[in-house]
Amino acid sequence: MKQANFYPKYYRKFKCIASDCEDSCCAQWQIVVDDDSALKYESVSGEIGEKLRSVQETDEDGDRVFRLENERCPFWEKSGLCEIHRKLGEEYLCHTCREFPRAVQDFADFAEHDLSISCPEAARIIFSDKSLDIEKEEIIRDIPDEEICYAQDFMDFLKEARANIYSIIKNRDLSPAHVLRECYSYACQLQELIDRDVFICPQPEISHIESLHEISYMNLIDSFLRMEILTDEWREMLLEAKALGNQSIFSPEYEDMRAEFSDEYRILFLHYIDRYWLRTAFDYDAVEKILLIITAYTIIRRLQMAYYKKNKELPYSASLRIVQLCSKETEHNSFDELYALFRHFTIEGD
Ligand code: SF4
Repeated sequence: MKQANFYPKYYRKFKCIASDCEDSCCAQWQIVVDDDSALKYESVSGEIGEKLRSVQETDEDGDRVFRLENERCPFWEKSGLCEIHRKLGEEYLCHTCREFPRAVQDFADFAEHDLSISCPEAARIIFSDKSLDIEKEEIIRDIPDEEICYAQDFMDFLKEARANIYSIIKNRDLSPAHVLRECYSYACQLQELIDRDVFICPQPEISHIESLHEISYMNLIDSFLRMEILTDEWREMLLEAKALGNQSIFSPEYEDMRAEFSDEYRILFLHYIDRYWLRTAFDYDAVEKILLIITAYTIIRRLQMAYYKKNKELPYSASLRIVQLCSKETEHNSFDELYALFRHFTIEGD
C-alpha cells in the first residue's frame, strides 16, 4: 500500500551533536532492545559482544532492555559518547537510539514525522524558527499492507479542526494564555459534536473567556514530583517552584522577559497539537489534548518564574532548558501517566 509521509521543514536540519550535547538522551533512559538488534548482538565477538549480551534483561513490562548501571545506560561513557557507537558504528545501535529524537505518528495510510524537543539540539532547531510555519514536505512510500483503524469522516473532521486550532495559536493578537483558553473552548465545542458522532467541523469563534480554573500550583507540582524523575536538575527546579507556594511574581522585568518568549510558547503549542491531536481518532477525547498543553504551559511558566525569583534574570537558554526538560521528563512516560497528571490538575482546579 502507499503511505504519505509528512515531514516538518526543520526535520532534515537535525544532526546529533554527541559529545557536545549537554544532555545525552540515553544517559538516564532504559533502552529497549528490539528483536533485530538483539539478533545482531548474538554474533558480536570480543569484550563488547560479551557485554552486549550480559547486560540485557526483561523489565516489568516484558520488554528486553539494557540493565541500568548507576541509573545510566551501561554503554554511556563520561565523554558523552556511546560505547556501541564508538566501537561498532551507528548500524549497531538499537532502533530507539538510532532514531531518537526522530519520532513518527503512524496512521497506516499516512504518517507524520517530527523531532522530540526532549533533545536539546532538536529543541534549539525547532524553537529558532519564529515564522510559525507548519508547512510539511510530503513523501509517498510503498509499505506492506496495514489495516486502517480510523473512520475517514472522523479523521477529516479532526484534520480540519486541527487547521483551525493552528490558526488560533498563530493569532499574535491573542496572548499565549488567551490562545489556550480559546483552544480549550473550541475543543469543548468539538467534543460535544464528537460525543454525538457529528463530524461537521465548526469555525472557531473568539469566546473571550476570562479564565479556566483556579490553579493550585502546589498540587500541580506535587503531581510532577510523584512521577518518575530522570534528572536531578528537573527535581531541583520543581522543588524551587514548590517553595514559591501559590504566590505570583509581579515584576515588569519578569513580564518583559516572559513576553520575549511569547513565540516560543506558540511553537510549543503547535508542536504538541501536531504530535497529539490526531490521536483523538482513537480515543475520542479532544479536550484532553488541550489540557495536556495547558498543563505543560502552566508548569513551564511556574518553573520560569521560580528561576527568575532565584536568579533575578531569565535568560533565553534557561527558558528553553525548562521547556526541553519538561518534554524529557513527561513525554516519554506512558500516556496514561501523562493524562493522570492533568486529570488530577483539573479536578484540583475545579
Ligand atoms: S539528546 Fe539529541 S543531541 Fe544529545 S546525544 Fe541525544 S540525540 Fe544527540
